[in-house]
Amino acid sequence: MNSFSEIYIYSDQPTTCPNCGLRTEIIIDLSHTMDQTQFHKCESVGCNFEFVVQNDIDFAK
Ligand SMILES: [Zn+2]
Repeated sequence: MNSFSEIYIYSDQPTTCPNCGLRTEIIIDLSHTMDQTQFHKCESVGCNFEFVVQNDIDFAK
C-alpha cells in the first residue's frame, strides 16, 4: 500500500480520476471496515492512475 502516495477524501460527487477527470473503477472496497478506504483505478487506458479514497475521519483519535 506504500505505493499509493496520494490519499483523497470521499465527497458527495462521484469519484473521478484526479489526473484526467474520467470515471474510476473500485479495485478494493474497504469502506465498510475500520479503514473506510477504497482503492480506485482510472478507467482511461492512457492514464491508469491508481489512488486511495478515504472517508474524512479524524486521524488524531
Ligand atoms: Zn485518469
